[in-house]
Amino acid sequence: MTSAISVPHIVPLSDILPDEPLLMMGAGPVPIPQSVAMANSIVINHLGETMNRVIAQVKDMGRYVFQTNSRYVLGVGGPGSAAMEMAIANLVHPGDKVLCICNGYFSRRMAEMVNRVRGEATILEAGVNQGASLEAVEQALRSKRYDAVTLVQGETSNTVCNGNLAGIAQLAREHGALVIVDAVCTLSTMPLEMDNWQIDAVITGGQKGLSSIPGVSLLAFSERAWAKKIATRSDLPFHWVLDANLADKFWNQKSYHYTAPVSGILALHEALRLVCGETLPKRFERHLNCSEALQAGIEGMGLQLLVAKEHRLNSVVGIVVPDGVVAADVLADLSRVHRVEISGAFGLNIVRIGQMGEQSRAHNLFRTLHALGSSMQASGAKLDLPAGMAELERSLSH
Ligand SMILES: *Cc1c(COP(=O)(O)O)cnc(C)c1O
Repeated sequence: MTSAISVPHIVPLSDILPDEPLLMMGAGPVPIPQSVAMANSIVINHLGETMNRVIAQVKDMGRYVFQTNSRYVLGVGGPGSAAMEMAIANLVHPGDKVLCICNGYFSRRMAEMVNRVRGEATILEAGVNQGASLEAVEQALRSKRYDAVTLVQGETSNTVCNGNLAGIAQLAREHGALVIVDAVCTLSTMPLEMDNWQIDAVITGGQKGLSSIPGVSLLAFSERAWAKKIATRSDLPFHWVLDANLADKFWNQKSYHYTAPVSGILALHEALRLVCGETLPKRFERHLNCSEALQAGIEGMGLQLLVAKEHRLNSVVGIVVPDGVVAADVLADLSRVHRVEISGAFGLNIVRIGQMGEQSRAHNLFRTLHALGSSMQASGAKLDLPAGMAELERSLSH
């Protein structure tokens, strides 16, 4: 017996979406520039001369943003986590031993992916709200032989930065381990030099530092890692879609692997073009100035930042929720009254404000800081909102 499935009751999107778009100032997705939105509305053939020219430019711009000369800059139809899984599924083979430096939620996700492809993850806890120390990493690398090391540049979940990334990568290389870096939130917001730091895989997503759309991601493999782990691999990786040798057919050989997410790649092209137009040094400076000014404003109104300055990520700022204030009330008031959206956190009593891509603009900072202070007050916090706004202004005008 089969029964017909009846038509569901559906309301139009206009009844679901807010009448005025919220200003997206959380931990991602972030606002996208108009040219990125326009590109995202176009569908073209996924193969052929037009797409080939687009892909060639995406790879060239990707090499600039990753700071690498590697020919293995590849895209993936999927979230930042798909790029992460692609890096791990291709570089970690069954039985490989991997040192997974963990600062929080996303670095732990890499350890889980290592185990799922039948690697053996050993977790090195960096310490509460701290970046990993060189001493701890060196000790771990001395105690056992590892095939690879995984770490995040910026741990979005608790706003911790692994400021020792270059030094950690160097230690790993000295001990013969490949280095896999999650730069999903940080790429193009702060320095990362893939070739100079001898990193073997850098992972990014669209919707964070690059200010593109979610769901189309980019990663790069070093030629060294490609030769050692991918070109010469004798067993097949577990994932067909994420197989780097197959992806190379599309990204370097102008042929078919799977139908590429053409609109999202066009959007990514525009986002990367804007990064190239701005140039990395200027973009890093903008992000640093904006984030420091925001932090000064937050502290200026009497709120506390979660992470000590030396371990603090600038790309996402974590603010301690004062005693007696409920984070969910603050977030609800922010979006209802001020039409600004920021993020809560996984298990921590903080709220997070992103400073990635288009979020790092002075006009967005004023609106967001005012909204934060106002909603904190409405939720019971005692603070000095005008003092915070003055501090933001002072810091930005320096
Ligand atoms: C957001 C994020 C991810 C995951 O990206 P998705 O697109 O959600 O899969 C991974 N790592 C870091 C550091 C992130 O900020």
